[in-house]
Amino acid sequence: MFEKILIANRGEIALRIHRACREMGIKTVAVHSEADANAMHVRLADEAVCIGPARSGDSYLNKPAIISAAIITGADAIHPGYGFLSENADFAEMVEKHGITFIGPTVEQMRLMGDKITARKAAKDAGLPITEGSPALDTIDDAKHWAHKIGYPVIIKAKDGGGGKGMKISFSDNDIEEAYTMAKAEAKASFPSDVVYMEKYLQHPRHIEMQVLADKYGHVVHLGERDCSIQRNNQKVIEECPSPALNQKQRQKIGEIVRKAIAKIGYQNAGTLEFLYEDGRFYFMEMNTRLQVEHPITEAVTGIDIVKEQIRIAAGSQLGYTQEDIHFNGHAIECRINAEDPTNFVPCPGKIQEWHAPGGLGVRVDSEIYSGYSIPPYYDSMIAKLIVHAQTRNAALMRLRRALEEFVIMGVKTTIPLHQKIISQPEYLDGQYDIHWLEKFMEEQSKNKEG
Ligand code: ADP
Repeated sequence: MFEKILIANRGEIALRIHRACREMGIKTVAVHSEADANAMHVRLADEAVCIGPARSGDSYLNKPAIISAAIITGADAIHPGYGFLSENADFAEMVEKHGITFIGPTVEQMRLMGDKITARKAAKDAGLPITEGSPALDTIDDAKHWAHKIGYPVIIKAKDGGGGKGMKISFSDNDIEEAYTMAKAEAKASFPSDVVYMEKYLQHPRHIEMQVLADKYGHVVHLGERDCSIQRNNQKVIEECPSPALNQKQRQKIGEIVRKAIAKIGYQNAGTLEFLYEDGRFYFMEMNTRLQVEHPITEAVTGIDIVKEQIRIAAGSQLGYTQEDIHFNGHAIECRINAEDPTNFVPCPGKIQEWHAPGGLGVRVDSEIYSGYSIPPYYDSMIAKLIVHAQTRNAALMRLRRALEEFVIMGVKTTIPLHQKIISQPEYLDGQYDIHWLEKFMEEQSKNKEG
């Protein structure tokens, strides 16, 4: 087992990884920007190294500085968390070249899955259901040709895309040129390559993803699904496990397809396969080769600590259990709480005057915040994840309502009022929502206000 792990991240996820290491008897090294010197993960780690100025590009994305910090402190592995360098294959390669273990899949697997075009091909070859799509589109005529072949509406995506950027929908020949040109321009501005391709656009799908764990010896298990359809700007807001849209038979069926595909690809470590789900059918969208923000709801339902499993697998341990050993217990829901104005989503950094997190049976709060902490303006505005777990979906919803009521965060605006509103809507209570539901709901709200 590793003796010392460097955590190449910040915020709640750095703290989450630190906690797993601590319980495994592994020492931790925190890295931080100048703006994060007082962060909780820095305070709790065994050692801390400042890796640069506030701007992420100079610190949390600064590969040489992070690797130097690992060498100086004698860390034998690096956990990248999510975001930042977690899906950067070049970083993983540099880490491994220095004799340090990257906690994640192999560099080749990261490259394969990091490119949406090669990932789609690998997924299809491994037997995963997938939307109809095109190869790389070189010209507008190419785009038109494929749009006719696939059938409108279509969505044009950057092959290196992420974070919901660079995706454009086209409904007919009238707007295909604009969609193609804009997707390409956005790809050029945001990603290493401006190559784009096309997929069939599904009009009212749910976002359902499958969590997998695989060791280095070909053992694969799936840990069930997460429904992440409550989204805004292609970003997840509330997630739940299991999905209210699936029955046991459907769950088992997609679980087996995924397990076989992951074994065929030879994937290692934790990963998530994201699907769109419409009219009873799954369509593979992409694979995330890292820990997900919403992993705690799966942990609640399966009792498996996914971060510890990632570390164990990276250290060469066998899974030690099979699919039959995994039991799904109850229902879990996560709310992502952001320091934002809940009416217009403008970030609201600043000093936390008072902080009181909810507790009690089945309530988990993952957060780096403490009373007196100043949220820096440079990073993502998520400041806490509230996760509840109970025996049934109804009981989980009652618990979530109670926990949101107890939460006190003074000094900055947060999205807690939005969560309270969402979870009291009849469609949400009935589990009847697709990926567009939240945006439509918010549009109606603002119309009502104006009227
Ligand atoms: P990114 O890597 O930027 O997150 P994804 O490919 O994962 O992009 O897509 C993000 C979101 O965009 C999905 O959760 C879904 O809401 C929407 N989306 C992506 N592809 C499609 C599609 N073919 N049809 C309908 N919606 C889509």
